[in-house]
This record gives sequence, structure tokens and C-alpha cells, in this order.
Amino acid sequence: MVQKKTIVIIGAGFGGLRAAMLLGKKIKRSRQINHYKIVLIDRNRYHTYTPLLYEAATTDKETANYPEIQKLVTYDISDILKKLPVRFIQNEVAGLDLTKGLVYCRSFEITHEELKFDYLILAPGSETNYFNIPGLEENSLTLKNFTDALKIRNAVLGAIANNKNSKVIIGGGGSTGIELAGELKEWQPDLAVTIIEGSSTILPGFEKNVVERVQNRLKKLNVEILTEKIITEATQNKIFLKDNSTINFDLLIWCGGVKASGLIRKLPLKTETKGRIEVEEAMSCLPHTENLKLYGQVYGIGDAVCCYDPVTKKPMPMVARAAISQATVAVNNILGKNLKFYCPKTYPYVIPVGGKYAVAKIGPFIFSGIIGWLLKGLVELNYLLSIMPIGYALKTWLRGLYVFIKNDRLG
Ligand SMILES: Cc1cc2nc3c(=O)[nH]c(=O)nc-3n(C[C@H](O)[C@H](O)[C@H](O)COP(=O)(O)OP(=O)(O)OC[C@H]3O[C@@H](n4cnc5c(N)ncnc54)[C@H](O)[C@@H]3O)c2cc1C
Repeated sequence: MVQKKTIVIIGAGFGGLRAAMLLGKKIKRSRQINHYKIVLIDRNRYHTYTPLLYEAATTDKETANYPEIQKLVTYDISDILKKLPVRFIQNEVAGLDLTKGLVYCRSFEITHEELKFDYLILAPGSETNYFNIPGLEENSLTLKNFTDALKIRNAVLGAIANNKNSKVIIGGGGSTGIELAGELKEWQPDLAVTIIEGSSTILPGFEKNVVERVQNRLKKLNVEILTEKIITEATQNKIFLKDNSTINFDLLIWCGGVKASGLIRKLPLKTETKGRIEVEEAMSCLPHTENLKLYGQVYGIGDAVCCYDPVTKKPMPMVARAAISQATVAVNNILGKNLKFYCPKTYPYVIPVGGKYAVAKIGPFIFSGIIGWLLKGLVELNYLLSIMPIGYALKTWLRGLYVFIKNDRLG
């Protein structure tokens, strides 16, 4: 009997889920089920479509209750993998021994012998970076996962129950902060929403034309934008800025940055300053010292790794499309005969800014307004079709459209 090779994937986000699906399909198609064991591990039983989190955070309880909203934004991993030879384990990975090929789960029901890998794909994503700013983590909410989204929704509803003109500060004017600010105003027009950004403009690094369109839209929605403001401390209802000023708030939401997941930071791998793994073009990881020998083959994909722009040499943005493409490369290099390389590139993107309005950039073209919003819808549908049967994808998408446009005012 052939000894099965074990492929362990950590994280069922955009990268990890795609890797598991591709491995499962390829192994099934090539009738190699007896040669490989594929294991996917995630702390949640569901996969999260992060581009809809801002919608989950801004939908009335009357419009959609908790389970309804969860179904629209998160999808059951076991259902997605139902017909594939992939074992899904819902568990927290507490640590790894990369020299012995062992994965340690939080729950002792899963032993590390069971999870001894020949191939490992690290895809645990990133986590919020509070940059050691005193009081920030304790006194703010963040928007990284589904639970965060619901916490924001509950906190906003709680705040407006006391005062409909409550003040919300969003720290960080990147795409997550922008999406949330725009939709908060669309949902609760009486809220006072302010974006605080450290750079000289919101959306640092984005094209000037995109930034201008987003800025105009935020102005129309009455979102206040403060740039070149650095938060140095946060207390329960006040932030302190580097220019010695202070701003009071009812709710502080921190969308100001991410860093490598805690799991990755503990590993003996070559990393960059934010703790993300520096991978080779084949998406394989390197040990942090030359004389350390990693067990089996270790790959890293998605937000957990850092890829550089071949021209500017700057780190590339962390986006879903990159995680998916990197998963394809890693899977090929595990199963294929010829090595494939990942070439970092700028992907098309869409930034929704309140209601049926989004700014989309596809190649050299920029679309804004309802066309951008329609493109965003098509991107969502396309993604759902790639992970679930057509009927279920259409039903989920249409239901999402129906629910999420209910709180749109301006269009
Ligand atoms: C609010 C928001 C909006 C976004 N919008 C967009 C967008 O519109 N377009 C876009 O391209 N990108 C968007 N992004 C970025 C995109 O979500 C990431 O780039 C992408 O998710 C990275 O994929 P990944 O597979 O590396 O990690 P993730 O998708 O984050 O998945 C990581 C998975 O690993 C699991 N995990 C982590 N640690 C452990 C552990 N120790 N044990 C078990 N499981 C673990 C997590 O539960 C998670 O399921 C958005 C992100 C956020 C937060």
C-alpha cells in the first residue's frame, strides 16, 4: 500500500480555501486519492467574504437578524468542500514545529501525530495592528471579521439609542475605513462620522483620480476627513493627537493597519518588518537562518506573506485576488511536475462609498457611481460562483442585494 502524503493547509480564507478546493479537485480528477491526504484547518466553521463586512456592520436588526446576516457574509466550509476529498477541522492552530513537521491544535482531540505534514500551506491571514498606541486596542472596535462587524453594528445602535448625533471616529483612511464611513452615514445620517488619517490624503498609494472621486463622495455624505493627524493615545472617549489636540468620541473604530498573524510571528521563518513571511517566487518559505532545515515543503500565501512590486520594490497591497493566485501557484508546485512562479501584479479593485456608489479601477479605466457599484456586485457573484453551486450562489447573492440595499438613502 502507498504511504499517503499529508498536505496541511492552515486558514480557510481566500487563499487557504482556494488551495484546498484546487488540491481536492486535482487529486480527485487524477484519481490520486490514495496518494494524498488533504487537511484544512480554521478556527471558524465558516469562510468569510470580507468585502461585505462593512454591510454586515451597517444593517438594521429588523432588516436581517444575526443568522440571516451571517449566511450572506460567511459560508459553511464543510458545505463548500462537501464533494471533495478534503478533511476540514475546525480548530485553533496554537503552534507549529517546522523542523519536525508538526501542527499543534488548541483542542487535544486532534493530535499532532495526526497532523504531521509532508506539505504545509500557511494561510492564516493578518491581524489588526494597533502599533502599540496606548489605550487604542482597549478602547476601540475594529473590522477584521464577522464578529467585529456585529460588534460595530451593536455599538452604533447602542450609541444612537442614547444620542442620534453620536460621534464616530474611524482611525485609518484606507479602503476598509472609507467603506465603513460611507455606509455608516448612509445607514444613520445623523451620526457624526470623522475619518482620521495619518498621511496627507485618504487612500494613500491609490491613484489621484480615485482618491478625488472618493473624497467628493464622502463630502456629499457629510463625512469629515482629517488628514496628517496621528493618534498617539486613546482613552474611553477621547483620542490624543501628535499635534497636541484631542477629539472626543462616542465610538472609535480602528481600521489603521494590519500585521502578520501571531501564529506566523512565532515561526523560525524569514520575515519582513511587519512580520510577514518573505517567500520565494514559487511561494515557498525560507528558514530564518541558513543552517535551519525545514521539514517537508512549506508554502506561504495571502496576507501572511509579503510580495514586492517588481518595479518599485515596495510591498504589494494585501488583497483577496493575490491570495487566490498565490494558492494556485502553491498547489501547482505541490502536485505539478514543473515549478510555477507567482508574479506580483496590480489587480482591479472596487471601493464602495455608501449606498449604490463605488469607485472601480480596471486596468487604466476608472468607473464611479452606480456603474462602480454594479461592478462590485458582479465581483461578488463571480466569487460566489467559484465556491458554491450556481443555484445556491445566485440565491445568496440576490438575497444579499435585497438586504443590503434596504438602508440606502441617496443611491
Ligand atoms: C473589512 C475588509 C474588507 C476587505 N475588502 C477587500 C476587498 O474588497 N477586496 C480585496 O481584494 N480584499 C479585501 N480585503 C482584504 C482581504 O480580505 C485579504 O487580503 C484576504 O482575506 C487575504 O486572504 P488570506 O487567505 O491570506 O487570509 P484570510 O482571508 O484573512 O483568512 C485567514 C483565515 O485563517 C484563519 N486563521 C488564522 N489564524 C488561525 C489559527 N491560528 N488557527 C486556525 N485558523 C486560523 C482565520 O479564521 C481565517 O479564516 C478586505 C479585508 C477586510 C478586513
